[in-house]
Amino acid sequence: MTPILPRRHQRGLPLDQLIRTAPPSAEALEMDVVFVGAGPAGLAGAIELAGLVQREQATGSGFPDVNIAVLEKAGSLGEHSLSGAVINPVALRELFPDKPDSEFPFRQAVSGEAVYFLTEGGSLKIPTPPTMHNQGFYTASLCEVVRWLGEQAEALGVNILPGFPADALLVSGTAVTGVRTTPSGLTRDGQPGEGYQEPTDVTAKITVLTEGTRGTLGQAWREWQQVRSDNPQIFALGVKEVWKVRRPLDRVIHTLGWPLPSTAFGGTFLYPLGPEMVSLGIVVGLDYREAALDVHQLLQRLKRHPLIRPVLEGGELLEWGAKTIPEGGYYALPSRRSGDGLLMAGDTVGFVDVPSLKGVHYAIQSGIYAARAAFQALKAGDTSAAQLAGYDRMVNESYIVGDMHRTRNMRLAFKDGLVRGGIKAGLMTLTGGAFPGGRIAMHEDAERPRELEPPSRRAVEPSPDGILTFSKLDAVFKAGNATRDTVPSHLLVGPDISPEVAEFYAHLCPAGVYERVGDELRVNAPNCVDCKATDVLGPRWTPREGGSGPKYRLM
Ligand SMILES: Cc1cc2nc3c(=O)[nH]c(=O)nc-3n(C[C@H](O)[C@H](O)[C@H](O)COP(=O)(O)OP(=O)(O)OC[C@H]3O[C@@H](n4cnc5c(N)ncnc54)[C@H](O)[C@@H]3O)c2cc1C
Ligand code: SF4
Repeated sequence: MTPILPRRHQRGLPLDQLIRTAPPSAEALEMDVVFVGAGPAGLAGAIELAGLVQREQATGSGFPDVNIAVLEKAGSLGEHSLSGAVINPVALRELFPDKPDSEFPFRQAVSGEAVYFLTEGGSLKIPTPPTMHNQGFYTASLCEVVRWLGEQAEALGVNILPGFPADALLVSGTAVTGVRTTPSGLTRDGQPGEGYQEPTDVTAKITVLTEGTRGTLGQAWREWQQVRSDNPQIFALGVKEVWKVRRPLDRVIHTLGWPLPSTAFGGTFLYPLGPEMVSLGIVVGLDYREAALDVHQLLQRLKRHPLIRPVLEGGELLEWGAKTIPEGGYYALPSRRSGDGLLMAGDTVGFVDVPSLKGVHYAIQSGIYAARAAFQALKAGDTSAAQLAGYDRMVNESYIVGDMHRTRNMRLAFKDGLVRGGIKAGLMTLTGGAFPGGRIAMHEDAERPRELEPPSRRAVEPSPDGILTFSKLDAVFKAGNATRDTVPSHLLVGPDISPEVAEFYAHLCPAGVYERVGDELRVNAPNCVDCKATDVLGPRWTPREGGSGPKYRLM
């Protein structure tokens, strides 16, 4: 066994690159409010804010126009969006009070559900835990939801800017004054090449970070402003496939147990997306112990299970993707999510309820609250931290924090393994979160030691058949990733990368970006699908040229 401590091989955040104190360029694009990230949080925020402004102006109060922009790193909306997804419609109903659910871009209502405990060859149906009930909710593709939200936002006059990743925060004193975008057209060694476009500064009275999971600017702002949380944020990696199937699936299915080892926390989901499609995914906590654990491999293994195989057989893999999920819950929430000229909403804050695997409605709802706080600040002509703290109060009094408080220790209970965790989680459900009292303390994922077993002691995987099971290279192709080969690497590799660490990274990355070649680490950066697992446990991820990465349509 070779022990590995991921933190020892990680670089710190490049804060000098991410926080820019120099004044914005004279050609800066001037906005009033800029949302960084066109996911559900950013788009819901922009829609709510544009609506508030329109309604205010309709009163004849003389309220001025407000320029709102949403920056997105994907080449077009939805291409970097990935979720399960079963969506609780509560927040969309609040955002569009005049629309019935039938107008939302859902695939279908949840008509049945089942939870199974899997062994390698068998399955046992178990009662659905109260936290996993999905009646009244809808299945959806997040790409489709995001594209639809983008249309609603544009119709309200919001400036949607895809292909514009935010590279750094512009700051003045303690205030955030906007963002700088990444340059494009750089050669592999970082020099301006053909079609070079220099970075654009986008200034704003209020910058709202809605970058999703493991947001780079959100991390930088918290470190710069020393905003703490009781526990560090922890993450899971989800790998997902969308299949065309021959027969409709009639239920939402979740499984526990195999193919995960008992030392890893996670589970799988299988959701119907209309009569001809299903989405299948596996989610594994990044505090797993075995360095050779490979989440993409586990998903391939899952598809050979007698419960899953018959659903997919005769069908076709349409799309593949991966993304991390913040799993730290209530105790990992930053003590404040607002500052001078800044708000943060959605996954970048960690608004996810892990036992129910839900984040979309919390992202939308927090985007709505961010918009309301921004609107009040613009009205008052005051975008200071004290004024914007109204956002934190709204979130703290809402069901977002209420739900997360009820399940506050549930994910954390699993840090000592599945069996002990399962018993504790049951008691927590029975006591509405009161058991065991207090907070279960966690380490950052990168602080958890890993063990690399010799190859002779690992399970032998059959080669992918290209029909039911796929290699990582095939998977990246199915993600639609067509990143320019000559783009400079956006992954900052840390010190002392031993052959064993290289192997750990190779298993960690679902997209085959890292390879151990002899005793060296090879980095195929263009393959990256921005899941951010690497940023949690390995080389740092930084924003790269707009439009790079996956081109999801159905995730
Ligand atoms: C496998 C999996 C299954 C899930 N299942 C469910 C489910 O069934 N139900 C549910 O409710 N939730 C589920 N979730 C969680 C849910 O998807 C998230 O909580 C939700 O998408 C968060 O929305 P968001 O807007 O905060 O972030 P995101 O949806 O991640 O959107 C963030 C956007 O910001 C962009 N961005 C990031 N950095 C930059 C930058 N520097 N510049 C410009 N743009 C940037 C990204 O490209 C992205 O488009 C699941 C998540 C995963 C990974
Ligand atoms: S390099 Fe990192 S962020 Fe990119 S796909 Fe691999 S694990 Fe995910």
